[in-house]
Parts: sequence; C-alpha cells; structure tokens
Amino acid sequence: MRIVPVPCLSDNYAYLVISGTGEAAVVDASEAAPVRDALRREGARLTAIWSTHHHLDHVGGNGELAAGGAIEVVAHVSDRGRVPAQTRAVDTGDTVRVGDVEAKCIHIPGHTLGAVAYYIQAGAERVVFTGDTLFCAGCGRIFEGTPAQMHASLERVAALPGDTRVFCGHEYTANNLRFAVHVEPSNAALVRAQARVAALRARAEPSVGTTLDEERAENPFLRVGSAEIRATLGIAKDADAVTAFAAIRAAKDAF
Ligand code: ZN
Ligand code: FE
Repeated sequence: MRIVPVPCLSDNYAYLVISGTGEAAVVDASEAAPVRDALRREGARLTAIWSTHHHLDHVGGNGELAAGGAIEVVAHVSDRGRVPAQTRAVDTGDTVRVGDVEAKCIHIPGHTLGAVAYYIQAGAERVVFTGDTLFCAGCGRIFEGTPAQMHASLERVAALPGDTRVFCGHEYTANNLRFAVHVEPSNAALVRAQARVAALRARAEPSVGTTLDEERAENPFLRVGSAEIRATLGIAKDADAVTAFAAIRAAKDAF
C-alpha cells in the first residue's frame, strides 16, 4: 500500500490509497484535476472515492471523477443526498476495499453529523484519514454537532494504536501549533513539533502523517486534562473533560 497526499484548492489534501494491485481509492476528492494528474503520475487506476464529510472542499471532484466509471463512492449513511455521486452508505463497523487494502469506517460526528474516518491496517502500517475532525495539532470547528460529540469522536480516533499515522483534510499544522504553544507554553514536545513542521514546509512538503502518539503529546484537543492548558484558559481544575474541551475549542475559534 502507498499513501500519496495530493494538494488541492488552497490548503486541502486529497489522498490516494494505492493497493499493490495498482488500484486506487481517493480520500476526499476536493477537485478532479489534481487527483487525475496524481493517478496518472502514479500509474494507478481509480476504483473508489471515500468521502470523510459533505463539505464542498472535500467532495468537489466526486461528480467528475465518478462519471462514466464503475467507481464506488462512499460516505456516511446520514450524508445520503449531501455527498455528490454517493453509491454506498456506511457506518461504524463497515469496511470498504480498494484492491487488497481494507479500510474500517468509524463514524466521528462533530464537525459535521456525518463525518467518517477511514482506518487502514496493512501489514505493520496503520493509517487513519480524519477529514476535518482530528487535524495534526488541532481539530475542526464544530459546525453541526456538539462539543460532547466532537470530544467523543476525537477520543475514538485517539484510541487507535499509537503508531497510527494521521492524514487530515487540511495543511493547518503550523497554525494549530501556534495555538498549542499559546495555551501550553512549557510543553517541550511543541517546540520539537514546530521545528519539524517548519523544516517540512520550507521544502513544500506536507506536515501531515504524524502518529497518534505524537498527537497525544502535542494536540491541545487531546490534552484536555493538562493543568497548564486549564490554567491558561481559566478552566477549573475539576471541570469535566467535555467542559474543558468546549472551552479550548472556543478559545481556538477566537484565537
Ligand atoms: Zn469540513
Ligand atoms: Fe475542509
């Protein structure tokens, strides 16, 4: 299996998941042209589109890419009618395939009510596609769900094995880390993360693909128990996790 990030629009990523058979799925077909170019470059044949959620910057290429081919277009069961060209409705526990690669679907509502993560375990390699729910060093805005739903969804993803690599929907990491440092200035992992991301971005390489272990050390939305974050934002020491999460999300919205 190979994972190929495809920069789209201004800061979106589509991803090709290319199986050993040469067949490919695209996660979040933001737009058709860059995905087509990447398929050609990689010598891969598109058989599936896996959409993480209905927002246009994640599904804008679905119609064009699915036209005239036997392409399976996957999205959450509740996104029927909202995801262009959808042929398959999935929920937690369902699996989708491309060639010899199998992905597990995990419903992760919050950013939208029909958000889905796709988790792949292929040999020793584990990856999860999180759309706009878990970002590297951040999380998406809560547009349709509640803070409780979003918090539970992030915890569901974070409960996957620690060496799972995170491929999210946007190149937001540098910005997210600025907020993370603001709320938790003495977290040394953040200094290392900022250096890592600066080096990658200087070479115009994606900053995505962090492990869940790194996310648990760096991502303020997975660190709602941190005494320093709570002190910075005036969150009570004994506040429950969802209350703390909601306060951190609100502070990020206003950052
Ligand atoms: Zn979105
Ligand atoms: Fe988005």
